[in-house]
Amino acid sequence: MHPPVYLDYHATTPVDPRVLEAMLPYFSERFGNAASRSHRFGWEAEKAVEQARRRIAALAGALPREIVFTSGATESVNLALKGVMEAYRQRGNHLITMATEHKAVLDTVRRLERSGFAVTVLPCRPDGLLDPDCLERALRPATVLVSLIHANNEIGTIQPVAAVGELCRRHGVLFHCDAAQSFGKVPVNVAADKIDLLSVSGHKIYGPKGVGALYVRRQRGAVALAAQMDGGGHESGFRSGTLNVPAIVGFGEACSIAASAMNTEAARLGKLRSRLLERLFGTLVGVALNGTMEHRLAGNLNLRFEGIDAEALLMSMPDIALSTGSACSSASVEPSHVLRALGLSEAEARSSVRVGLGRFNTEEEIDYAAGRTAEAVQKLRSLSPAVHQ
Ligand SMILES: *Cc1c(COP(=O)(O)O)cnc(C)c1O
Repeated sequence: MHPPVYLDYHATTPVDPRVLEAMLPYFSERFGNAASRSHRFGWEAEKAVEQARRRIAALAGALPREIVFTSGATESVNLALKGVMEAYRQRGNHLITMATEHKAVLDTVRRLERSGFAVTVLPCRPDGLLDPDCLERALRPATVLVSLIHANNEIGTIQPVAAVGELCRRHGVLFHCDAAQSFGKVPVNVAADKIDLLSVSGHKIYGPKGVGALYVRRQRGAVALAAQMDGGGHESGFRSGTLNVPAIVGFGEACSIAASAMNTEAARLGKLRSRLLERLFGTLVGVALNGTMEHRLAGNLNLRFEGIDAEALLMSMPDIALSTGSACSSASVEPSHVLRALGLSEAEARSSVRVGLGRFNTEEEIDYAAGRTAEAVQKLRSLSPAVHQ
């Protein structure tokens, strides 16, 4: 029996052993509350938090004081969107986002709409990318904020954030970027890309779950943000609550590893991905790729197997961890809203599988997974009166 192969790195990643090692002392001997000012237990925790803050800021090209710790990218997105729209109510009531966003953005935007804000959800091109002209046409005098995902969690497409940042800056509109999938995988620089708010997550980059951060620009005029969590005034008043010190330390360590490993890792994942594609395309007919291959995360693939029900395919090979759509909406039976937004039919969306390769995958695992998948697809096709036999 072959051990199970994990190819679902967009849902979450395992904690890197170096990250775990860095975290452990903060569960035991260094257990202090980072907000305790009167003793060394508190100072020690605060020092560790500030080191992590510097590491996260460095990876984003931000200043440490521009980083607000949260419980994850979902909370960061909520704070960014609700916090900005509330703080800039006098300036306007309109915000713009895109159809292929993560549910953390789409559901937050829907709630804002129900409470009276005006929302535009832009379509995307069939390749998965935003057309910046389309965004420019959607801007209104009342537009306060544009929220755009950097790398998509289903199809891995990387949006032209620098062009969007430039456009937003020119029109005096704030720009929030959901970088949960791209941070630590491809370069993100809030200054160069003119990003005002950036949401990131620990567990997508080999850090622990339940920790994330929101970058909030404090230079060249600070971005105003209404806190969504009241309490002791932690995190400059933006997000109250005792800091999760071990998780923050782990997130910081994950960022330093990502900073030094990013380039070699992307090259390695790109090779593994080509290997997987060659093997699948070499053995199967009726396989297609969803989304452009040009601007895409090195570890991502989204494959359509003609005549196959993707759920049935995944069920037939439980030792290969793949997914249909995103983990975040996998409780629902709806086909992927991302694939539908690309123009795929419901049937096409239902025959698509997301592949997420990551740091701990090996060539041997790729070969095994490719073999298992090809075999399972052929078996399912032979059982149904499909065209591809
Ligand atoms: C995972 C993810 C989120 C949510 O992050 P959590 O830290 O799990 O809350 C938001 N946006 C994107 C693009 C993601 O991939």
